[in-house]
Amino acid sequence: MDIKFVDLFAQYLSIKKDITRALSSVIAETAFISGKYAEQFEKEWAEYIGAKHCIGCANGTDSLEILLQVYGVGAGDEVIVPANTWVSTTECVVTNGATPVFVDTDPDTFTIDVTKIEEKITDKTKAIIPVHLYGMPADMDPIMEIAKKHRLIVIEDCAQAHGAEYKKKKVGTIGDAASFSFYPGKNLGAYGDAGCMMTNDPDVATKARIIANHGQQGKHNHLVSGRNSRLDGLNASILSAKLNYIEEWNKARKEIAKEYNKLFKGTKVKTPKKPRGRDHVYHIYAVMVENRDEVRKVLEERGVPTLVHYPTPQPLLPAFEHLGNKAEDYPVAVEQTSKQISLPMYPEMKPEMVEYIASTLIELVK
Ligand SMILES: *Cc1c(COP(=O)(O)O)cnc(C)c1O
Repeated sequence: MDIKFVDLFAQYLSIKKDITRALSSVIAETAFISGKYAEQFEKEWAEYIGAKHCIGCANGTDSLEILLQVYGVGAGDEVIVPANTWVSTTECVVTNGATPVFVDTDPDTFTIDVTKIEEKITDKTKAIIPVHLYGMPADMDPIMEIAKKHRLIVIEDCAQAHGAEYKKKKVGTIGDAASFSFYPGKNLGAYGDAGCMMTNDPDVATKARIIANHGQQGKHNHLVSGRNSRLDGLNASILSAKLNYIEEWNKARKEIAKEYNKLFKGTKVKTPKKPRGRDHVYHIYAVMVENRDEVRKVLEERGVPTLVHYPTPQPLLPAFEHLGNKAEDYPVAVEQTSKQISLPMYPEMKPEMVEYIASTLIELVK
């Protein structure tokens, strides 16, 4: 059995004709940067998510950075971010000259613990960036309430949650603005780096587009000092082609998760909890086990690749050491880093693979 952590080539083979057709159109029309295919995907993605504006850009990290810039977040400001996330969520704050303030993890969902946000708010706090980690929506209702009370901007980091829903609304439509990454391994992935920003606010959309395109509004009319962060035509056409399958792929992920959950029931493998009203799209299928490092090693030997998301909580990364955060202030995130294990998860997985992975893990767990 050839089990991969994700199998992008298997996915490519299943849609090869669509991809070939998409790429040849872009090349024939030389619509390489922004242009027709980028605009088309922006329109389709905005429609799919249910947001008014979608602005394509070069990657998910840029989209977060640019959105903070649009809202004027910079030196002297604080931004609340979860202790457990991919580093982009924190980096975007630092790149803008502001200070990331970390909040510990909710033990059930691995997303930001909403009961610990308010104690971190000061008069310098400008924004909250909740992350829909692993494909599980963060608890947005209390986050929006806190934000309203303290007049904070909410930027949803949706990089791992394409199509996930919170109380029947797609993530990316709840906060003031949202960021998506189309990194190849994401639930909707390009064949290179790509990302987008989303908002219902036309003013935010205009500013974001200007910054992402060298500060220009119209050619050579540079209103601000911007940057080069645009969606390219080839990747946009791939994303449009793949968008036709996202529902099917997310459904397959949910089926695989259901199967894993069933197989792990009554064992020592702690499976992901799913609170009512939250639709998980399983970008990552994360479980917790006591003897994690030992288990991972043997799984690898038996042909099961696994990963850890993430090995170090953000406040304790060398990059953010200067902020002086202490491990004891993030007990849940710290515990999780020693027990969490991400199992193979991709729509093309065969039932016998899921069974083999589950039975091997059950045999090893203590
Ligand atoms: C992937 C990811 C991003 C952005 O990633 P890029 O590689 O820059 O597209 C941001 N936040 C989270 C949580 C992610 O997983």
